[in-house]
Amino acid sequence: MKPLRYAVFLVCCMVFYVFFAESSYADLPTVAVVTTGGTIAEKLDPKTGGAVPAVSGKDLAEAVPGLSKIANIKVVEFSNIDSSQMTPEMWAKLSKTVDGILADPAIKGVVVTHGTDTMAEGSYFLDLTLKSDKPVVFVGAMRDASDVSPDGPANILNAVIQACSEEAKGWGVTVTLNQYVNSARNVRKTNSTNVQTFDSGEKGYLGYICMGRVTRFNDAPVRQKLTLPAKLPEVALLETFAGDDGALVRYAVDRGVKGIVIEGVGAGNVNAQVFEAVKYALGKAVPVVITTTVFNSGVWPMYGDQGGGATLEKAGAVPGGDLTGAKARILLMLALAQENSSREWLKKYFMK
Ligand code: ASP
Repeated sequence: MKPLRYAVFLVCCMVFYVFFAESSYADLPTVAVVTTGGTIAEKLDPKTGGAVPAVSGKDLAEAVPGLSKIANIKVVEFSNIDSSQMTPEMWAKLSKTVDGILADPAIKGVVVTHGTDTMAEGSYFLDLTLKSDKPVVFVGAMRDASDVSPDGPANILNAVIQACSEEAKGWGVTVTLNQYVNSARNVRKTNSTNVQTFDSGEKGYLGYICMGRVTRFNDAPVRQKLTLPAKLPEVALLETFAGDDGALVRYAVDRGVKGIVIEGVGAGNVNAQVFEAVKYALGKAVPVVITTTVFNSGVWPMYGDQGGGATLEKAGAVPGGDLTGAKARILLMLALAQENSSREWLKKYFMK
């Protein structure tokens, strides 16, 4: 081919490529991937013999085959820690960061990569505090990047598919692993090692993702929105036990906590000594929320012996509905920081 014709041919190929690439880039939605750490970004450390944070946010996104065909990805590295080290104050900062990203009209949604140990609480914190109604999908992994078959890449791909999907509208913040979509409010981690660990019990999944498509099963639960305070109040979380004498409840009150969540037994019951300690707390104007360790159905004022749910509610404790103790603590921290945190208002926040 003559040099001039070859040069013209090359220019035409470049123009076509740029046009095609540009038009496909311009056509794709843009999803921000905010990385915080967790197993999804961890590798085996030969020194400790355990998984430690080791993969950058950029490498995380680049390790997902086919992601660039689904969306344009904007990576924001927030932190790189195991989620056992996460704090409510860090979730408050993450909530502000995600809202700032979602304020950009060009951003379709956000995927947050996070450790699974505290993902249920962290996703709930953002579900309660984000101002934006755009999709926010929490995703993680149960197998680290050194594993024979890491589950992180497929989970990230599905999370981005969900963030771009019309089917996912109105779900608020979700936890999406192993193809199943859970609401932040109802999800719990139910298995310490298996990839199918997140479950919402009798409330069920919101949907399922397969072959690039989102299938919608349910709408999300009614979403509450609370204002992020400048400083989060200290709230204790105590699980009661057989023979509990209530000393830890009294210690928390004397330490100066602003609220206490007690994970009771059954439908939200405690023994007579703990009941006396609850009355001690209430007498000092420290609100007490009662939850249960039981997975489904939650707290009900069914029992009238000293410390039964009916006596606790009559004494002024707030029934925590079907929230886990850890989530009830998040909600109580935020509720106490709102303008009105009277007992009647607190009851409203918990009986959703
Ligand atoms: N320990 C890890 C974390 O919570 C577990 C995981 O991400 O699967 O960060």
